[in-house]
Amino acid sequence: MGSTTPKQYLALCGQPVLRHTIRALLACTRITEIIVVINKHDQRLYDAAVAPLDDPRLQPPAFGSDTRSGSVRNGLLAATGEYVAIHDAARPLVSVDAVDRVLDQATKSGAAFLALPLTDAAWQVEHETAVTALPRNTIWRAQTPQVFLRADITRAHANHAGPADDDVAVAVTAGLAVTPVIGDDTNIKLTVAADFALAMNYMDRHMDIRCGNGFDVHRFGPGDHVVLCGIKVPHSHGLVGHSDADVAMHAVTDAIFGAIAEGDIGQWFPPSDPQWKGVASDVFLRKAVERATLRGFIVNNIDVTLICELPKIGPNSLMMRDSLATIIGISPERVNVKATTSEKLGFTGREEGIAAMAGATLMG
Ligand code: MG
Repeated sequence: MGSTTPKQYLALCGQPVLRHTIRALLACTRITEIIVVINKHDQRLYDAAVAPLDDPRLQPPAFGSDTRSGSVRNGLLAATGEYVAIHDAARPLVSVDAVDRVLDQATKSGAAFLALPLTDAAWQVEHETAVTALPRNTIWRAQTPQVFLRADITRAHANHAGPADDDVAVAVTAGLAVTPVIGDDTNIKLTVAADFALAMNYMDRHMDIRCGNGFDVHRFGPGDHVVLCGIKVPHSHGLVGHSDADVAMHAVTDAIFGAIAEGDIGQWFPPSDPQWKGVASDVFLRKAVERATLRGFIVNNIDVTLICELPKIGPNSLMMRDSLATIIGISPERVNVKATTSEKLGFTGREEGIAAMAGATLMG
């Protein structure tokens, strides 16, 4: 891949592969806990990958070992359910339907795995020469998840010696019967660069892109500063509002609520509720981002325009951008903060207050 970063942390459609994979599994309501087995040197990569995923089912990671089997064993030690589904982090395109199919079969027969019957002719090759035609109607290509009774697969791993390509191999060696269940062509394992291109094609087909807009106004009142995008800017007046009156952050918050069709800031945080009095507005923005994350969306970009004669926004716009990016949890290059006057026209022109409008795109 021309990169030293492990492939599960490389970006696929703007997000780490592992985040896609975990999100795909979290979409399955029958999955009660997820334990990712990581290399202990990758803790920071892992933390960054899972940071936007706020789901109690995602447990702290387990650490891997020198061998594949050892790593699986460490994951099994942390698991608690009756059944365990073992999945490749590098298969981010696994579908809820496929997981349901393999879980259904495993709960009937005790062990099952996703796989595809071979449709191409299969040849055993030795010294770069085809030697033996394999009976393809008896051969299946294994995918994951591979699902077992936790007690069975834990015992199988404990007794397993030597390498194994997957957990079916460990289970079969231990004498377990494991049933193949038809997987999906799209449930590919990302191994080489071409796999990433293919996965992007598959994801584009399913990508859910949402746009939202937000608009807000707050009037000037007594004070010596305003708060815009979380940044305190000295001014001859303050802004009047129930919270800190951060008009820009309110517009951004509404743009995100708008994109996910979840109403507006006033519905989530009624001005009649005293607990929001004087509160810093990042609380509202964090809630909107949390709702988007719960619905499987990430914020792709934000563009906000402040409309006022004064204070001057330009000198603070990069700080404002960084502030929004930090709160949302995205790169600053996905956030833009700009400003305009209204040519002395209207209420903003008369310096009676500040207006802000914002646009957001989200990807799910
Ligand atoms: Mg407001």
